[in-house]
Amino acid sequence: KQTSRFEEGWLRDTFNAKRVPKGRVRTRFPPEPNGFLHIGHAKAITINFTFAEFHEGTCNLRYDDTNPEKEKDLYFDSILEMVKWLGFEPDRTTYSSDSFDELYALAEELIERDKAYVCHCSRREVKERKGTAENNYERSVCKDWHRSPEENLALFRKMRDGGYKAGEAHLRMKQLLGLPPTEYEATDVDSPEVKEAKERLKNLAWNPEMWDLPAYRITPNNYHHRTGDKWRIYPTYDFTHCLCDDFENITHSMCTVEFELKRPAYNWLLEALDRKIPGSDEKGPMQREYGRLNVEGTVLSKRKIAVLVEGAAVIVKDKPTSDGESLAPAMKKTTIDNKGGSTDDDNEEEEEDGDEGAGVATAAGDAKIGEGETLKEIPKAVRGWDDPRLFTLVALRRRGIPPGALRNFVLGVGVTKADSNIEMDLLDNVTRSYLERTVPRLMLIRDPIKVTIENLPVDFLEEREVLFDKKDEAKGTHMIPFTNTLYIERDDFREVDDPDFFRLAPGKSVMLLDVEHPLQCTSFTTDPSTGRVNEIKAVYGKDVPISKTRIHWVGESAAHKSPLKCEVREYNPLFLTTHPSRPNEAPRKPNALDWKTGGYYDYINPESEVVWGNALIETGFNEIRASAPWPKEKEAASGKYSVRFQGVRTAYYCEDIDSTEEKIVLNRIVGLKEDTGK
Ligand code: ATP
Ligand code: MG
Ligand code: MG
Repeated sequence: KQTSRFEEGWLRDTFNAKRVPKGRVRTRFPPEPNGFLHIGHAKAITINFTFAEFHEGTCNLRYDDTNPEKEKDLYFDSILEMVKWLGFEPDRTTYSSDSFDELYALAEELIERDKAYVCHCSRREVKERKGTAENNYERSVCKDWHRSPEENLALFRKMRDGGYKAGEAHLRMKQLLGLPPTEYEATDVDSPEVKEAKERLKNLAWNPEMWDLPAYRITPNNYHHRTGDKWRIYPTYDFTHCLCDDFENITHSMCTVEFELKRPAYNWLLEALDRKIPGSDEKGPMQREYGRLNVEGTVLSKRKIAVLVEGAAVIVKDKPTSDGESLAPAMKKTTIDNKGGSTDDDNEEEEEDGDEGAGVATAAGDAKIGEGETLKEIPKAVRGWDDPRLFTLVALRRRGIPPGALRNFVLGVGVTKADSNIEMDLLDNVTRSYLERTVPRLMLIRDPIKVTIENLPVDFLEEREVLFDKKDEAKGTHMIPFTNTLYIERDDFREVDDPDFFRLAPGKSVMLLDVEHPLQCTSFTTDPSTGRVNEIKAVYGKDVPISKTRIHWVGESAAHKSPLKCEVREYNPLFLTTHPSRPNEAPRKPNALDWKTGGYYDYINPESEVVWGNALIETGFNEIRASAPWPKEKEAASGKYSVRFQGVRTAYYCEDIDSTEEKIVLNRIVGLKEDTGK
C-alpha cells in the first residue's frame, strides 16, 4: 500500500508520534485561488490527503482567499475539480474569507494585549529598520512602536473605516523588532523557564520572518469576491494561516520548505493568543515543512505560462556588443496580461502591500517604445492552460495522465525536506507502467496506406473476435472485420526493399496481428501529385511465403463502419532545454530574450506537437468509449478524459476534449518504450 511510506522517513521523524493517534489527524490543502494548480500542487494535495487517510483522519480544502486582487471564480472551481480528479474528497471546503470577522476580532485582541501596533512607515523605512549595509545591519523600531493599545485600537479602526489609503498604514505584530538582541542576551537568569524563553528569543532574533510582520494591510482594490465591499483591510498570510488552521482544528499543517523560517512566526501568533503552549506541540496545530516538487524542462510559473498561452509583446533594447553579437536585451516593460497573478518560482510575492515585483505585469498598451528599442512580439505557443505539453494539472489531465499514476509518481518520489527536481521521463515511466496493465489495446494507424488484397473476393468478410488485452481476459473482447481492403502504417512499408527491413516491401511478406496467414506485396502505386505511395496490392493465404514480423492494421468494412477516422496529436517536450526557466544555464543565442520575460521562447521545440490528421482506428474504440472510465478508477465524473488505450505497436492514447461524435481526436499520453521517441 502506498501509504505505508508514511510509517517511515520524513513523516514519522517530522511529527511527534504521540500526536498521531488514529482518527485524530486533521490536515488541509490551502491553495491561493489565484491560478491553475500545477504538478507541484499534486504533491501538496497527495501528501495532505494521504497522510490524513493513513491515520484515519480528515483533510480540508481551504481556499486561502485573502488577496482580493488576484482571485477569480474560475480558479476556485478548477481547484476543487482537480482535487476530486486526483481522487480525494475534502472533508470540508472552507474559505479563509469566511473567518474575516473572527480574524478581525483577534487582531483587536492582539492590540489589546499590546502585541500589535499600527505602523505608518514606507517600504523603504521598513527595510532600513530591518537593517541594511548602510546602517551596519542595526535593527530599530519606528516611533509608533511605543503607542498605547488604546491609540493603536483607534488607529486600527481608522484603517478599517477607510481613514487611510493603501500603503499608508499597516497593523504589525510586535514580534522581535522592538526587542534588540542585547535585551534578551541579559544574563540575570533566575529560573530555567526564563532561561529557556530567552534562549528561544535569542535564536529567533536573526530571523527576518520575526521582524514585526504585517498582520493587516489596506488594499488598493478592495472588492472581494465573497465579502464584496465590506472590507478595506485584509489580513496577511502570516496572520491568517495559523489562525485558520486553529479554527479548523488542524493538527498537522504541512507546507513547502520556503515556509520554514516562518514557523516561529506561525507559533508566535498562536502563542500570543493563547492558542498554543510556548515551546510545545501539545496544543494547537503544528507546522512542518516538506520539499517542493519541480519538474525539469518545463515552466510552472503562472506568469511564464500566461505568456505561452496568450502571447505577449516585449520591448527589447538593441544593444550590439563589440564583436557584433547582440547581448541578451534588457527587459523593460511587457504587455503581458497578468492573468494568473505573478507569484511564482521567482518568489516575487510581496504580501505587505499586495503589489507585485517591479517590471512584471504591465497592462497592454502601457509600453512605450523608446529609441534603440524594438517591440518583439511573442506568439502564442500552446493551446491553452490545459495544453497537454504543460504541467498544470488541467494539462496533465487533458494529456491523459491517469490520476492514479500521478499519485504514484508523487508518492514514489517520496516526501522529504529536500526539494526534488524531477526529470520528465520519470513521470512518463510511472505513467507507462500504470497504463500497461490497466488499459485495453486497440489498433490505430497514424499515417495509413491502403492495402488491397487481390486474391480475396470483393465481398470477403471474416469477423474476428479479439481480446482487448491478451494477458487479461477480464477486459473482454471486441470484433474486428477482415476483408480484402485494409490499412497499414506508412512506416511499415518500403518502396525499395532492404535485407535489414522485415516488414512489407515489394515481393516481401509480413504477418498481420490476429490473422493466421501472411500477406505479400505484389505492387504499389503512388499519387502523382505528392509522390507518396497511395495503394499497395497484395496477396494473402497459406501459400504466401511466411514472415516472423507482425504488424498492426485496420480492416475496411462498410457494414461495420470500420475503420473510424481520427486525428492524432503527438506531444513531445515543449522545450529543447532542461532549464527553460533559467536559459542562463543553457547556451545563449544572439537576440535571446531575458529569461524572466520570455527567454524560454528561444528553446521552444518546433516539433512539440505533431498532428496526424488522417489517422484510422478500429471500431473497438466506440466500445471503450461507451464503457469509460476504464479501468473503474476513482476518477471524477469527466468521462471524456478517461478513454485511454494502448495503440498496439505505437503508444498510449487518450481521447482529447476536442473530440466529438463526428471527429475523434486523440492525444498521445506517452510512448510504449523509454527513449524511442515513439
Ligand atoms: P505557485 O506560486 O507555484 O502557484 P504557491 O506556493 O503560491 O505556488 P499556493 O496556492 O499557495 O501556491 O499553494 C498551495 C499549497 O501547495 C501550499 O501548501 C504550497 O506550499 C504547496 N505547493 C505549491 N507549489 C508546490 C510545489 N512545487 N511542490 C510542492 N508543494 C507545493
Ligand atoms: Mg502562495
Ligand atoms: Mg500561488
